[in-house]
Amino acid sequence: MSAVRAGRSVDHDRAVDLLRRSYATVPAGEPVRLAKRTSNLFRPRAAPRAPGLDVTGLGGVLAVDPVARTADVQGMCTYEDLVDATLAHGLMPLVVPQLRTITLGGAVTGLGIESTSFRNGLPHESVVEMDVLTGAGELVTARPDGEHADLFAAFPNSLGSLGYATRLRIELQPVRRYVALRNVRFRRLAELTDAIDEITRTRSWAGVEVDALDGVMFSPGEAYLVLGTFTDEAERVGDYTGQAIYYRSLRTRTRDALRTHDYLWRWDTDWFWCSAAFGVQHPVLRRLWPARWRRSDVYHRLVRFEHRHRVAARIDRLRGQPPRERVVQDVEVPVARTAEFLHWFAATVGMSPVWLCPLRLREPAGASSARSWPLYPLQPGRTYVNVGFWGSVPIARGAADGDVNRAIEATVARLGGHKSLYSDAYYDRESFDRLYGGATWRAVRERYDPDHRLTGLYEKAVARR
Ligand SMILES: Cc1cc2nc3c(=O)[nH]c(=O)nc-3n(C[C@H](O)[C@H](O)[C@H](O)COP(=O)(O)OP(=O)(O)OC[C@H]3O[C@@H](n4cnc5c(N)ncnc54)[C@H](O)[C@@H]3O)c2cc1C
Repeated sequence: MSAVRAGRSVDHDRAVDLLRRSYATVPAGEPVRLAKRTSNLFRPRAAPRAPGLDVTGLGGVLAVDPVARTADVQGMCTYEDLVDATLAHGLMPLVVPQLRTITLGGAVTGLGIESTSFRNGLPHESVVEMDVLTGAGELVTARPDGEHADLFAAFPNSLGSLGYATRLRIELQPVRRYVALRNVRFRRLAELTDAIDEITRTRSWAGVEVDALDGVMFSPGEAYLVLGTFTDEAERVGDYTGQAIYYRSLRTRTRDALRTHDYLWRWDTDWFWCSAAFGVQHPVLRRLWPARWRRSDVYHRLVRFEHRHRVAARIDRLRGQPPRERVVQDVEVPVARTAEFLHWFAATVGMSPVWLCPLRLREPAGASSARSWPLYPLQPGRTYVNVGFWGSVPIARGAADGDVNRAIEATVARLGGHKSLYSDAYYDRESFDRLYGGATWRAVRERYDPDHRLTGLYEKAVARR
């Protein structure tokens, strides 16, 4: 990398220039889209007519400052590359989403989450400043305060509808060599949510500090919390990058330990448990399946192929199977209502397993309370549990495609929760505006994209544009 000046470099400036020039060539009225190699969006989108924006040279780490514990990172840098660069200094981002090819810009604008979120909030809460190419074609540096504080606040959950982050300065935290894991089983969901509440308040369990917390529900009578603690000592280190499958280990082991690098990508190898859909968990096929293909981006490409060609759907139809509704969602429910949601979900939707990940808006040291973010208005001081489920259900006779997703949206709203927008959404415009800060989004858009060149948030999230 060429000489780095205050987190920027000559190459970086050139790459941003290329992006700006490619933006200028998109004809007015044509949809604007990033020409990225990978994506973790799940909803199918209308095919673009114009070439995507050139993001060449915007996928790297510009600088890591081990003393200030910050990194300057380009907007399209994947977490896989970012983690490699920071672990070399014994540091990691405060929250590392589980899928290797999620980019920093994508996680900040599209809301990432992971097991450190009960302490550190969401990825956008450790952004110190960011350069954004706005819809008006200008490059501005947005910070929590100052001239572009409105853009800084509205950027999380704007999904690229207000501009594209080209460089972000983020905070980092120190790590140790291993993460020691305690897999704690709960037979009653109310006890599990009580435990989440306690760990979130005390940051410990049974007298041992907890640095990371997530879990899995197989059924209401069988759910696990995984309590992670950074350590430099580990007696037996697990490995789930080969034949062993991580999520299954929760049912058979009460203690485990992983190298920190392997812990961060523990869910990527089998895309949580979704690799089962491709047969990759069958012992014979698993041995034949090349290790380099045991990655979420490979599975995602297979899913995109199915979205385009509908091969499995056609085979199902030929076999007389009912059509299926895609149910791929992450929702946030207040911890006090999480057991109720999970019981409802098990009885009504019935998909299993589901992922559980507690979160709380970040309360930085010295601050009296967390700040809130208008386009995803979680309440400061309140603990939520992210519930993730990714699969499909048969469409019942007399029901329509989308009914199950609509029921989930209604139940989550009734329980005071929120839904992420990376997948299918069915809200009407008025409800969407109320739930996702519509008035703020419009005001910020008028300032930074007065000609409405970028696709609107509702159009992206609900109308699949
Ligand atoms: C099955 C599944 C499970 C998921 N589970 C998790 C999870 O457990 N934890 C988690 O953290 N997240 C999860 N996600 C969500 C994921 O973090 C978001 O979808 C995120 O936005 C993806 O980032 P990406 O870099 O792949 O962005 P893309 O998929 O490429 O783009 C997503 C959106 O962000 C916009 N965008 C991308 N880069 C930028 C940028 N630099 N500036 C502005 N806008 C930009 C794009 O225009 C697009 O609208 C999951 C997604 C899926 C599909």
